[in-house]
Amino acid sequence: MPEKKESLLETIPVFPGRNDETPWRLQIEQSITTPQVLSSFLGKDLSALETTVQTYPLRITPYYLSLIIKHGAPLYRQAVPDERELACLDHSDDPLGEEPSSPVPHLIHRYPDRVVLLLTNACATYCRHCMRKRMIGGAGSGRPLHPPAPFPMEKAIQYIHDHPAVDDIILSGGDPFMLGTEALKEILTRLSKISHVETLRIHTRIPATLPHRITRNLVATLKTVKPLFINIQFNHPLEITQAAREACDKLADAGIPLGSQTVLLKGVNDDAATLKRLFKTLLSARVRPYYLHHPDPVKGTAHFRPSVKKGLDIMQQLRGNISGMCIPHYMIDLPGGGGKIPLSPGYVLEKNESCLVVRNYQGDRFLYPDGQ
Ligand SMILES: *Cc1c(COP(=O)(O)O)cnc(C)c1O
Ligand code: SF4
Repeated sequence: MPEKKESLLETIPVFPGRNDETPWRLQIEQSITTPQVLSSFLGKDLSALETTVQTYPLRITPYYLSLIIKHGAPLYRQAVPDERELACLDHSDDPLGEEPSSPVPHLIHRYPDRVVLLLTNACATYCRHCMRKRMIGGAGSGRPLHPPAPFPMEKAIQYIHDHPAVDDIILSGGDPFMLGTEALKEILTRLSKISHVETLRIHTRIPATLPHRITRNLVATLKTVKPLFINIQFNHPLEITQAAREACDKLADAGIPLGSQTVLLKGVNDDAATLKRLFKTLLSARVRPYYLHHPDPVKGTAHFRPSVKKGLDIMQQLRGNISGMCIPHYMIDLPGGGGKIPLSPGYVLEKNESCLVVRNYQGDRFLYPDGQ
């Protein structure tokens, strides 16, 4: 058994220092990208994962690895590769039909008024459950370990110029915060200058996996653009560390509204107690729970998918028992590009012309007089 090695973790500052661009770049440079190195940190032989990471690359920041070592299973499962990724051939790489909904490279246009821009295929830590597993870290390129890079955005930005109905731009990827601050600033500024663009959103997991990235310099840049919302993927309460809270504080103090997007993951957070704790902790960090996503049927991720019944049971246990401020919408995304729809446990038992028969969160039945 390889000897457990933690010295690297100790050498990397967890809190941003004075020159606050250095810690996050160091975290990226020192990320764990091979099963061999991961084995030495986790003190077990992971060499059987070599073939898995040839298809679906591995990257874990020293920061997130330190959380895995401290807390085990719920974080381990999200970031450490699993042989089941290659054994699962049930699903398609792109069940939501993102590629067919892509009129120009790196832009997905599914709804009338909003588009998703994919800025890069890089992330600080690659989530094993990722719905864009087909491309993340260079997967599918035939050179999975090539260094990920920002994507060219010219055609996508031109497309937005040419489509006045599009007023909400979602920056995603990969993780938009993997770009350097200057590169991100350039894109945000160009989008802000398009007169019909009203709002911008950034979808990121970096406050959970690399909170050091939220530097003063980055926050100052984010304040200069059109109304910006940031939705953060947090999947477990143990991801909301002191460092993650400080990252959220910096963004919230800058007046940026924060939301969360959580993926319901088997063996990670698929129980009501964990999600209650997660959503309450998020609210206390000024992050408003936005969506709880049922995991999409993506090839290589079947071992993460609970049943929808389980999701609905959990939602039922949340409603009424915790503040409505911290209950997200539970969403499924329809295969073939049908879009997202919310699912809710049924509260309406019967309905006739004059009234509804409903049940409350405790299961008691009530008659509710209907309007005209
Ligand atoms: C999820 C998603 C959006 C955003 O949906 P909202 O419900 O507005 O958050 C936009 N475009 C695509 C392709 C999406 O998958
Ligand atoms: S951060 Fe987002 S895009 Fe990157 S691997 Fe995780 S889920 Fe996928």
